[in-house]
Amino acid sequence: MKYQRLLVTSALPYANGPVHLGHLAGAYLPADIYVRYHRLKGTEVLYICGTDEYGTTITESARKQGTTPQAIADRYHQVIREAFAGVGISFDNFSRTSRPVHTRQTQEFFLRLYEKGLLKQKTEQQLYDPQIGQFLADRQVVGTCHHCGYEKAYADQCESCGKAIDPRQLKNPRSLLSGATPEVRETTHWYFPLGEWQPQLEEWLENKSHWKPNVLNFCRNYFAEGLQDRAITRDLDWGVPVPLRGWEGKVLYVWFDAPIGYISSTIEWAEQIGQPDQWKEYWCDREGTKLVHFIGKDNIFFHALLFPAMCMAYGNYVLASEVPANEFLNLEGDKFSTSRGWAVWLHEYLQRFDPDPLRYYLTCIMPELADSDFVWRDFQERNNAELADTLGNFVQRALTFVHRYFAGQVPAAGSLREADRALLAAAATAPALLGEALERFEFKKAVRTLMDLPQAGNVYFQQQAPWEVRKTDPARCGTILNTCLQVCRTLAVVMFPFLPFAAEKLWRQLNLPGKVEEQSWDKAGEPLVPVGHPLNRPEILFPKIEDERIEAEVARLHAAAAEAAQGEEKKPMSVKPPAELISPAEFSRLDLRIARVEAAERVPGTDRLLKLKINLGEERRQIVAGLAHIYPPEEMVGKLIVVVANLQPARIRGVESQGMLLAAQEGEDIVLLIPESDIAPGAKVR
Ligand SMILES: [Zn+2]
Repeated sequence: MKYQRLLVTSALPYANGPVHLGHLAGAYLPADIYVRYHRLKGTEVLYICGTDEYGTTITESARKQGTTPQAIADRYHQVIREAFAGVGISFDNFSRTSRPVHTRQTQEFFLRLYEKGLLKQKTEQQLYDPQIGQFLADRQVVGTCHHCGYEKAYADQCESCGKAIDPRQLKNPRSLLSGATPEVRETTHWYFPLGEWQPQLEEWLENKSHWKPNVLNFCRNYFAEGLQDRAITRDLDWGVPVPLRGWEGKVLYVWFDAPIGYISSTIEWAEQIGQPDQWKEYWCDREGTKLVHFIGKDNIFFHALLFPAMCMAYGNYVLASEVPANEFLNLEGDKFSTSRGWAVWLHEYLQRFDPDPLRYYLTCIMPELADSDFVWRDFQERNNAELADTLGNFVQRALTFVHRYFAGQVPAAGSLREADRALLAAAATAPALLGEALERFEFKKAVRTLMDLPQAGNVYFQQQAPWEVRKTDPARCGTILNTCLQVCRTLAVVMFPFLPFAAEKLWRQLNLPGKVEEQSWDKAGEPLVPVGHPLNRPEILFPKIEDERIEAEVARLHAAAAEAAQGEEKKPMSVKPPAELISPAEFSRLDLRIARVEAAERVPGTDRLLKLKINLGEERRQIVAGLAHIYPPEEMVGKLIVVVANLQPARIRGVESQGMLLAAQEGEDIVLLIPESDIAPGAKVR
């Protein structure tokens, strides 16, 4: 079906922390590539997002930090907005759900459903924290998931199996505010009868068979179980107030208001461009608008079921045409985790590296159909071998050659040979091939197709050997370089969705008029560089990334994880049952040795880390231990300790640790294990 305009959204990031690379790869980078492509295609496209600022996680952060939820949201809105700008995510509007326009729109949405008689009121039992004296929101209660048995499931959704949870069915519930076992008390709420919309949802999804299997299967599983009524109000004071008399002190549920954020952000955009009714063209024209929601897989329920049903109930809003949900990105073999310090934050990445290599690498490994893994070494390798040595190299060779031998002016093309025609044909078909993949949300395939072109260019340059031809046939040499420069122009345009910063840079080097973003995608494959056109000096598009910078990143990651683990130790821990049994052979694999501490100092910038020089009899080593708050450095010198001598070395806060000392721990208490009487360093412990 042909549409007139395209409305693209990315999941609203939650303003309770910065965004990391997993978020970027899931819902923002693919949307941005898609949108940039469509702008070059000349599609009427609008790209909408904003921060999601309500919900109890933000209230909780505010409580812990002794500030207001608004202050938390203000801080992270700013951090997130700047990070997205830095990596080139080109929203047409980036709003906030705490703005008045959103409150108005959400209340209007609610009232319409209310007035149509589509909402149900239910008085029901809800979890209440008797120690603190308030009703508990879903994210303030954890317990065991009744679907999969995961023990730290929230009362509204299980992060392990992804399913929605009925708070009353959560097993062993605990209040996160006080640790108390919640009581059940009565309260009254509004419900959206999602189950009643199931037949319409099923019918609507019938002609979405081209959607990704992960999305369709997710929905089918829900249908099989039967959709349930969903509460849309909460006993809280942070959120959009329920706009009814007698309902003071209650707000609309964050997942009711958040997707309406797409609409309110569009309204804000229309007001900003001075055409306040323009938003209706996008949201109220069901035939003419193609609505695409880019999300991570944890958001499928809300975008493929709940929000569409809300829009059906409301009446005249556009329903999603596409929901290209991505799977998850992992980091160095493990899940991203804020609490475990296992993350690369986008705003921090941008302090140390260029945006385009990240955009490129994340596109190459985009978790389109399965989880994938961000590995720093792999990032370096892709930048150096593919961006620098393939794409950058081709452009650099052509431009440098023209500066050296043609005074920086585009030489004329004589009669074309087979090889010239083949390369120009590859350039001519690139826009359509790439476009086809992008229309189908096949970003990995698209970026591979993109890289085929400079690869072919390098082979061509090598085989045509203009540096030889120049001596015998200068006109032929000119044809070769003309061909290369035409391909450079094509590249600048078709790489723009993926590598927008480098594309503009290349455009300036080619000294072509206007900007890349003003060019036509469909004409990108044509040889449009005129003969005699003066080029600017070439500059390196993609500098290589050295080993040291990558090592520093890996060390930084492990240090953050070590720090988070130490923070974790501060929490009182119950004594765990002894671990499973191991054989004597397994035990003997541990090389435990006595060592004498010869020197000790604090690792700069840490409270707890000690750097120890130890004598192991036949060798001296350095180890790092998290003891400084209990054992000051001067107390450690001269002590005999027990160390694991055959542990893989690790870098902690950038300091190498070649082993680990043994200590006993009970809650905050740490006690060093030392031999009962003097014995020579190096002695084996068994
Ligand atoms: Zn579960």
